[in-house]
Amino acid sequence: MNINSLGILYVVATPIGNLQDISFRALEILKTVDCIVAEDTRHSQSLLQQFSIKTPIMALHEHNERERTAKLLERFQRGESIALISDAGTPLISDPGYYLVHEARAAGVRVVPLPGACAAIAALSVAGLPTDSFIFEGFLPAKSGARLQRLEALRNESRTLVFYEAPHRILELLEAMQTVFGDDRRAVIARELTKLFETITSGPLKDLAAFVAKDANQRRGENVVIVEGVKGVSNEEHEESLRILAILLESLPLKQAVELTTKITGQKKNIIYDLALQMKK
Ligand code: SAM
Repeated sequence: MNINSLGILYVVATPIGNLQDISFRALEILKTVDCIVAEDTRHSQSLLQQFSIKTPIMALHEHNERERTAKLLERFQRGESIALISDAGTPLISDPGYYLVHEARAAGVRVVPLPGACAAIAALSVAGLPTDSFIFEGFLPAKSGARLQRLEALRNESRTLVFYEAPHRILELLEAMQTVFGDDRRAVIARELTKLFETITSGPLKDLAAFVAKDANQRRGENVVIVEGVKGVSNEEHEESLRILAILLESLPLKQAVELTTKITGQKKNIIYDLALQMKK
């Protein structure tokens, strides 16, 4: 504890399965901070016990984040240092902690990352799909209508897409993706990463959906789903098509606007047609 200055907030990644993925530095910080703030204290206690860490622990989740953050800010003022962890992987990545990090930084508290496991990055690193540019979508809405709507908005995305999904919804997600992205779009399911039943399966969406439908084991465990972006259209080209199409749709019928946009941009007619339908909606 340093009483002359503000304490530090450490944002500490923990393993996503294999405990050996914890870093030396993470162990040292977790042992020496004044308090560990965890999403689920019971879950994290078992991790801490494995490493003989006896630091006091308190809960911070979406229901108490605001009230707890106010208390923690007082502790930083007293020079105490705190480590934030989540149930697995990197805090704030589809996990709690955003409000605390935001407020701590706003209060001038030093926020230090301790990098480590993250399911999205681990999955990307083995998927064999382009990694030069990708977008992290995390969890899609649970309701099927809202999920389809979100997927529709991503239909023409050229960057690699990264999704998280709960085991009981994995088949629904793959089927919805097949409907929106088409049978043949390449994808990868990275399941149970770093654990005993780790499997990384790639193929066209229709094959992946059939594989998961056939084998109940594939509907158990944790999954990252990675989908290849639309090939051959850069973001700039996509933006340009949208701009041209919007102008033409103002004064021409849909069919003509689509034909002209296709001629001007050289892009595929079905893609432009889909964009036009979305714009008309
Ligand atoms: N903060 C975590 C991270 O850094 O990856 C993610 C937390 S989020 C609440 C949990 C989701 O992450 C799971 O539903 C699954 O989609 C993905 N996930 C976590 N661990 C995984 C693993 N070992 N294998 C595959 N996916 C995993």
